[in-house]
Amino acid sequence: MNIDVVSTAGVSREGLSVASLKSIGIVGAGQMGSGIAHVCALAGLDVTLVDIKADALTKSLDLINRNMTRQVKRTLITEDQRDDALARIRTATEYTAFAECDMVVEAATEKEEVKRAIFKAMVSHLKDDCIVASNTSSISITRLAAATDRPEKFIGMHFMNPVPVMKLVEVIRGIATDEPTFRAVLGLAQRLGKVSAVAEDFPAFIVNRILVPMINEAVYALYEGVGSVDAIDTSMRLGANHPMGPLELGDFIGLDTCLSIMQVLHEGLADSKYRPCPLLVKYVEAGWLGRKTGRGFYDYTQTPPKPTR
Ligand code: NAD
Repeated sequence: MNIDVVSTAGVSREGLSVASLKSIGIVGAGQMGSGIAHVCALAGLDVTLVDIKADALTKSLDLINRNMTRQVKRTLITEDQRDDALARIRTATEYTAFAECDMVVEAATEKEEVKRAIFKAMVSHLKDDCIVASNTSSISITRLAAATDRPEKFIGMHFMNPVPVMKLVEVIRGIATDEPTFRAVLGLAQRLGKVSAVAEDFPAFIVNRILVPMINEAVYALYEGVGSVDAIDTSMRLGANHPMGPLELGDFIGLDTCLSIMQVLHEGLADSKYRPCPLLVKYVEAGWLGRKTGRGFYDYTQTPPKPTR
């Protein structure tokens, strides 16, 4: 597997579309779509955020406002920068709103059929030269590209959570992705103040190939009674110096997203070591998806969050 960390110095000079990239569309106004909208708007791009749920859009704008206000308080940005950025974000529930976008980043639910349906419905509303990127955590970029009318302009741009804080963007080319698209996306990452790492198009790429099996293993440790939620997270925080315990991290990512990534690894690599833990499946079936639903391995209605096992 060919893995490079890319210094993006000079990319914006070479990249064909970076300078002309003015308007970006985002599909999905969940935690990732909101974060991507946040950093793009602060970087001066016009942002069009689309979700099928109107209430997700309202919540997203509120979250972006709160997160930018926190940045103002920490003197990372000025009030004017916040107000200008917020004014650059518009929301919609229809893909027709993407008609003028130079690039669209898909950040909807981590399910291949959901993403394929989005691309199918969306592409006819895009400009011919509009780049399409997916923020998927694990699904084949080549397969997703094939669901569009422009595989050469399709690419993986995998942001980390929380987007305004995390420095890394994984960039994944599908088999057909052309060089100008690749260069443009490296340039965009640089413009957003991120560092790019290039990953080959294998299930879950680099970060989640390593991270999510660790979270799944922590759920197995809980399932088998090796330790309680608190003991497992404390062990990894204090014993391995991780800033967050694996179960807390799973709740933060979203347990549905973790399960989907394990399923992609299990199916894509056909190795039993990637078997999703039955307890993770059970939590997702219960709708206990972590922070975003208020309950996962911790109960977030309590302060501080209380372990649920
Ligand atoms: P989320 O559940 O918070 O948000 C998903 C959003 O997509 C929801 O608002 C939902 O209404 C919307 N959606 C679903 N179907 C749609 C459709 N047909 N059209 C428009 N919107 C639709 O999920 P998230 O955590 O933001 O993850 C989104 C993507 O980002 C996934 O592909 C995930 O794998 C990836 N990702 C997640 C993380 C993480 O830590 N959570 C990190 C990196 C990448």
